[in-house]
Amino acid sequence: MSPTKPRVFSGIQPSGELHIGNYLGATRTWAQQVAEQKEELIFCIVDAHAITVEYDAKELKKRTLDLAMDLVACGLDPEKCTLFVQSDVREHTELAWYLATATPMGDLGRMTQFKDKSEGKEFVSTALFTYPVLMSADILLYKATVVPVGEDQVQHLELARETVRRFNYRHGEIFVEPQPRLSKTPRILGLDGQGKMSKSKNNTIALFDEPDVFWNKLRPAFTDPQRARKVDPGRPELCNIFTMHKAVSSEDQQKEVVDSCTGAKWGCMDCKKMLFENFNRELVPLRAKRKEQTPEGIVKVLGEGADKARAIAQGTMREVRAAMGIGSGAPVPGG
Ligand code: SF4
Repeated sequence: MSPTKPRVFSGIQPSGELHIGNYLGATRTWAQQVAEQKEELIFCIVDAHAITVEYDAKELKKRTLDLAMDLVACGLDPEKCTLFVQSDVREHTELAWYLATATPMGDLGRMTQFKDKSEGKEFVSTALFTYPVLMSADILLYKATVVPVGEDQVQHLELARETVRRFNYRHGEIFVEPQPRLSKTPRILGLDGQGKMSKSKNNTIALFDEPDVFWNKLRPAFTDPQRARKVDPGRPELCNIFTMHKAVSSEDQQKEVVDSCTGAKWGCMDCKKMLFENFNRELVPLRAKRKEQTPEGIVKVLGEGADKARAIAQGTMREVRAAMGIGSGAPVPGG
């Protein structure tokens, strides 16, 4: 059966605590959608994707739970959405194998992310190569109709759509073609102004950093290099600080930033202080909610989330196995 209400699937890698780039780029929008309840929302912490490159097993478990606690604190209310960990629902990896039969190797070799991540590496795992097949399985398992994607994931989603066409042509109308929903949020650069905000580049501010730590990281952040002195007029449209203002500051404040920057009426520190205060105001209730979370509590939440996800996943797998003619017909647990 296909879902009647739009079903949105979002995956997030457990690559460390959430930073302000994750928050402004995705999590804040997810929380709004959870509050609005216009769509059926499935959020999956994709830990099986995180093991395609070298990793530390203990650290991964910790990151997975930390991320789940961060997400709940941001507003992903588990009563109003499905929040779970990918590897708790084993149908993801099972479906990936079946979908691999409908995915040409040539297409996987053309994936830009594979080329980027494997370049210059001595050891490249097969899992890194077949990663997009698992991503297709994540989405198709739930017959998601909408998938929010960043520019870097568009190619993977197109592959998933092609897999649907190829699989359905061979085995009948089992899957639905997911539609991409491109993020409208402007991309927040790292604090050094050098490309993406990323924990591995140490150019982020963790969302739940205490206010003094937050400010100490924001204070030296890269701005328009043309503003070497306070009297030099700046170009807010080229400044990462202004991009963040557009996300968290009122329209009047944004006008004030443009006017004060282009007219050299204030220094970058004044501009950053305003941004800091606006962030702080928004983050106070989230920090309080984050402090309420415990590892034991979140394990329970994730267990319940996995039960909800599994119920859908097992239904899809029953259809897939029957359509592909696999299995003996003997009872399968949950099948
Ligand atoms: Fe950027 Fe603000 Fe400085 Fe202008 S005043 S360059 S917008 S930090």
